[in-house]
Amino acid sequence: MTPTPSERPGGLPDHSFEDRMSTVEFRVSERPHITVDSDVCRGCSTRVCVHACPARLFVPTSDGSILFNYEQCFECGTCYQVCDADGAITWTYPDGGHGVAFRKG
Ligand code: SF4
Ligand code: SF4
Repeated sequence: MTPTPSERPGGLPDHSFEDRMSTVEFRVSERPHITVDSDVCRGCSTRVCVHACPARLFVPTSDGSILFNYEQCFECGTCYQVCDADGAITWTYPDGGHGVAFRKG
């Protein structure tokens, strides 16, 4: 059977990025739990973080660097795993009581 436009193969519902973001809540800490060294990023040729981050938080800039915003981070750790540039990403969990909540209550 041909999947409807709202279904992916395997029967999983195909939610838009906006739909997915609407199901989470971010309790933003003043302390960034992830920092990105734009000087290191300027020399990066892969920019793998831009495509790997499910929250689309890494944005290339016209000067060859990266703009990063920690506030809507899912805390998945993917960026830290895929980036192979020493010192580009400093990753910790948010302070207690802060960060992502995956179901709005
Ligand atoms: S965070 Fe890592 S993968 Fe992303 S641009 Fe910087 S050095 Fe490259
Ligand atoms: S931890 Fe996950 S959601 Fe957060 S910035 Fe890294 S890849 Fe994006």
